[in-house]
Amino acid sequence: MVFGFSNAAIKTHQLIWWISICSILLLRLIDLLEWKLRSSKFSSSGLFGVQRYAAGCITTGIAWSCYVLIFYNQLHSVELFFKVLIISTLAGGSASFLAANRFIAISYSMILLIPISVLGLFAEQGHRQLLGVLGLAYALAMVSICVKTSRFTSNAIYQKNLNAHLIKEMENEKNHVALTNQELEVSSNELNQVNINLEDEVKRRTDEIFQLSNLDPLTQLINRKAFTVSLETLIEHSIIKDSPLALLFIDLNGFKKINDTMGHKVGDSVLIQVTRRILAFSDNDRVGRWNGDEFLMALPYSDNDTAISIAKAIATSITQPIYVHGNELYLSASIGIAMAPAHSSSATELIQLADLTMCEQKKSDNKLPRLFSNDLKEKITAAQMILEGLQHAIQRRQLFLCYQPIQSAKDNVSFAFEALLRWDFDGKFIGPDVFIPLAEKSGLIKEIGAWVLNRACMDANHWQFGRQAAVSVNVSVIQLMDDGFIRFLDNCLRSSGLAPHRLHLEVTESTFVENKEKVRQQLEQIQARNIDVSIDDFGTGYSSLSQLQSLPVNYIKIDKSFVDNIEGKGEAIIRATLFIARELNCQTIAEGVETKEQVTALSAMGVDYLQGYYFAKPMKNEDLVVWQNPITKVFSKTDC
Ligand code: C2E
Ligand code: MG
Ligand code: MG
Repeated sequence: MVFGFSNAAIKTHQLIWWISICSILLLRLIDLLEWKLRSSKFSSSGLFGVQRYAAGCITTGIAWSCYVLIFYNQLHSVELFFKVLIISTLAGGSASFLAANRFIAISYSMILLIPISVLGLFAEQGHRQLLGVLGLAYALAMVSICVKTSRFTSNAIYQKNLNAHLIKEMENEKNHVALTNQELEVSSNELNQVNINLEDEVKRRTDEIFQLSNLDPLTQLINRKAFTVSLETLIEHSIIKDSPLALLFIDLNGFKKINDTMGHKVGDSVLIQVTRRILAFSDNDRVGRWNGDEFLMALPYSDNDTAISIAKAIATSITQPIYVHGNELYLSASIGIAMAPAHSSSATELIQLADLTMCEQKKSDNKLPRLFSNDLKEKITAAQMILEGLQHAIQRRQLFLCYQPIQSAKDNVSFAFEALLRWDFDGKFIGPDVFIPLAEKSGLIKEIGAWVLNRACMDANHWQFGRQAAVSVNVSVIQLMDDGFIRFLDNCLRSSGLAPHRLHLEVTESTFVENKEKVRQQLEQIQARNIDVSIDDFGTGYSSLSQLQSLPVNYIKIDKSFVDNIEGKGEAIIRATLFIARELNCQTIAEGVETKEQVTALSAMGVDYLQGYYFAKPMKNEDLVVWQNPITKVFSKTDC
C-alpha cells in the first residue's frame, strides 16, 4: 500500500509508518518464537502469553488505524477504498483468527474499524460519509460475530483441552495399567519361581521324609516298617501268581562282641559290608534291616530248596573275613526261613515265624539255615500257651518261691538263701528257665518280678532261724532298668520290715553289656540303701573286664558250668575269677556245687560261699525250718 500509492508529499511519513509496522511485526515474530521455545521447555503461564499476544495485536491494530488517521485527508478515493477494504478484511479475519479471545478479537476489529468510520462520518464527501455509516454498521456486526465466534471457538478449545486432558488421563491410566501389568508380570514370574522352588522343596522334603521314615540311615536298606509293607504286597502277588515266596531272617553271630570291644564305628563299617554281601543275592527293595544286626530278605518265586540254597550262600558269604581299619574280623549268620503262603499269608506272622526259626537255629548245634517246620510250630504253640497261662499265674496263686541256701565255705553256716521262682501250671511244673525268658519278652517280668521281690522280703522277715541270713533275689535286667524300680524296692523293704542289709539282688552278667551307665546308676542307688549286689552266672555273659571294673558289685557268682568242669579247664577259669574278684573287691559264690570234692577244691581255692545240691536243693519256705534244724535236717525232703 505504501509503495503502490506512493505520495510524494507524505512519502517520508509513509516510509516511517512502514518501518514502524514492519518493526512491530518483527518484534511480534520474535516474541512468538521466544514464547514457543520457552513454553516447549518450561510450563509457562497461559495468561502471560495471551497478554503478550493481545499487546502485539492491539499495537498492530493501532498502527493500522494510525495510517488512516494520519493520512486520511491525503488519501484519494481509490486508495481510501483499498484502505477500507484491507481494514475490513483484517477486522473480518480477526473474528475468526482471534476468536479464541473475545477481548482481543473485538478490541482489534474496533481499533481498526471505529477510527476510519468516525472520520468518514465527519467527512464532507457523501461517499465518505456512507463509508463511515457502513463502517460503524460493520463494526457492530463484527462485535456480534466476534462474540459468537469467540464463544464457539472458546468452547471448541475448551473441549479440545478437555479431551486432551482426558486423553492425557487415559494415557496416564494406560501407562499406569501397563506399569501394573509389568509389575504383575514380575510378581507372577517371581511367584512362578517361588512355586518352582516350592515344588523342588516339597519334593526334597518328601524324599527326606521318605528316607527318614522308610530307610535305615546306616545301611540305606528299607527299615522294619517299610519292609513289612513291601512284604505284604509281595505275598499278595505270590498268592495271585500261585508261586511260593521265601522269607529269610538273617541274624549275625559275633557282631555284638565286635561292636562292644572295637567300638561302634567299626561295628557300623561291618554292618555296611555285610549289607553289601547280602544285597549281592537280591534287589535293594527286597532286603530290609530289622534290628541292629538282623536283616530280612524276601525271595519271590522261591521254593524250599531254592530258599535254603540262597540262605546257605548268604551264610557262606558272611563268614568270609571282613576287613575294617586294618582288622580282619569274622562273623557268622543264623538264618531262619518261612514260606508264604504255606506257613502264613500275613507279613507280620511270616516275619515272626522266620525269626523264631532263626532263634531255634541259633540254639542248635547245626549251624545250617533252617526252614520253619511243624515241630517248631508245636513248640511255638506251647510257648504261646505258657505265656497265656503266665498272665494269670499270679491271680491263680500258681507261683511260689523256693529257697536254696548259700553256705559259708569257712564254717558251713547259711549266709543267704536264694529265692527261686516256681510255677505250678495246672499241675504241670514249668521251670524258670522256660518261663522267665518268655516273661521277659512279653513284659510280664515286671509284674512277676515285683511279686517275687515282695514275697521274698516278707518270707525272709519271718524267718525264725539264722536271723542274720539274707535273701538273694534274682532281678531281670528289664526290672532293673525300670525307672520305678528303686522306689518299688523301698516300698518292699518298708512294707515287709526287712532290714536292707538282709536283701541281696542277683543280676546276670549279660545285664552289664548294654546300658552300662544306667545299670551303674541303678546299682549305686541300690548299694546306697545297703543292699548287696551279686553278678550271677559270671563268665557266661561276654562282659569284658573293663566293663565290670567300674561297676558297683559285692559278690561274683561263679557259674555252675565251671564248677562242673573243675577238674578240667574250669579250675583255671575259677582261679581267674577269684583273681578278678579280688581286684574288684568282691567276694565269690560258687553255684551248682554237688560233690564233696567240689566243696573241698573250691574252699581250697579260696571261694567264700558255696551253693548247690550238695548242701540242699531249693526248698519251700516252710521246709527251711526243718532243714535248719540239725536233728530234722536229714529228714527234710526238699524237692522244689
Ligand atoms: P540262677 O539264678 O543261676 O539259679 C541257679 C539255678 O541253678 C537254679 O535253677 C537252681 O535250682 C540250680 N541249681 C542250684 N544248685 C544246683 C546244683 O547243685 N545242681 C544243679 N543241676 N542245679 C543247681 P532254677 O531254679 O531252675 O533257676 C534257673 C534260673 O532261672 C536261675 O538261675 C535264674 O536265672 C532264673 N530264675 C529263677 N528264679 C527267678 C526269679 O525269681 N527272677 C528271675 N529274674 N530269674 C529267676
Ligand atoms: Mg541266681
Ligand atoms: Mg546262676
